[in-house]
Amino acid sequence: MTEHRIHHPKACTERLYLPRSTGGRGLADLNILHRRQVNQLKKFFHRKKDTSTLHKLACQSDRYLAVDLRKNEIKEIPTLDEVKEKWLSKRLHGKYPSSLKTAGSESTNWLVKGQLFAETEGFITAIQDESIATRNYKKYVQKIRIDDDKCRMCGRVPETIEHVTAGCQTLAPSEYTKRHNLTANIVHQELAMLCNLGEGKYSPYFKYIPAPVLENENYRLYWDTPIVTDKPIASNRPEIILLDKANKKAYFIDISHPSDHNLEQKEREKINKYYDLAEEYKKILTLKAVHVIPVIISATGLVTKKFAGYLERLNITNKTIVTKMQKSVILETCKMVRKTLNIPET
Ligand SMILES: [Zn+2]
Repeated sequence: MTEHRIHHPKACTERLYLPRSTGGRGLADLNILHRRQVNQLKKFFHRKKDTSTLHKLACQSDRYLAVDLRKNEIKEIPTLDEVKEKWLSKRLHGKYPSSLKTAGSESTNWLVKGQLFAETEGFITAIQDESIATRNYKKYVQKIRIDDDKCRMCGRVPETIEHVTAGCQTLAPSEYTKRHNLTANIVHQELAMLCNLGEGKYSPYFKYIPAPVLENENYRLYWDTPIVTDKPIASNRPEIILLDKANKKAYFIDISHPSDHNLEQKEREKINKYYDLAEEYKKILTLKAVHVIPVIISATGLVTKKFAGYLERLNITNKTIVTKMQKSVILETCKMVRKTLNIPET
């Protein structure tokens, strides 16, 4: 797997054999399967030996069997919980499962679906494991003598993988914006379809261009349009606004892809950011309610526990949309890391 770039040489090996729904890669561990078979054979022969001469003789001899039946000792097999604990206890590798513990259950949807190329999956898991050779990693983990471990793009802070994927000011206007807009395309297109505002068929999200305003009898959908209010409000431009005319409700939708540990904070930030605007919009249009919907997916695909609930408010109940957004974010994160750190494609 390492030779074919499906498993990064420094990435976590415990993960390989854990179920995909728990953040693992769902492979069968041949060592464990072998041990289990040996244990079962031993148990079987030793149970039968009291009543069967054949089994008794087999237990006394190791000449004809690959399994040494003379000793009835059982080989220990670690439980899934023990493997998970080992993964969690690792200093760098353990950061992702630790974030996963408090994240929403949809966080591993992309992994369960398994739609990425094996190499891409291997690369994003290495990013999650923080095993990528950034300057900071080279200096402090690999102990390579490097004078400056500051980010090669912005030169401001140490170049960690977390910084490259979600914290670099130089990458923000170009790479992060592109990743963000692709997610926004998916949400916008889905809302247009649900509200019968679109062309009635899906186009590839990476080619989709959201119209500034789409409208029919029941709905109005805005894209990147500022709201004019009587008193000036600084945050007056939610990325997507959906106005449900029949029910007199509006939804402000804002998207972000922070680092894994910043997920919930980002969600709260978005709610606070548009609180004043929501109140004002409600008054201006005499609406019953204005909901702020944060669509927050971490740069490596994690979502919060509230994520599915927020999408449900928009009637987005189709689970494939979550996977589609995660896949898009992960692909962009991988491309960006490769490009920034000059890691060649496979
Ligand atoms: Zn930077």
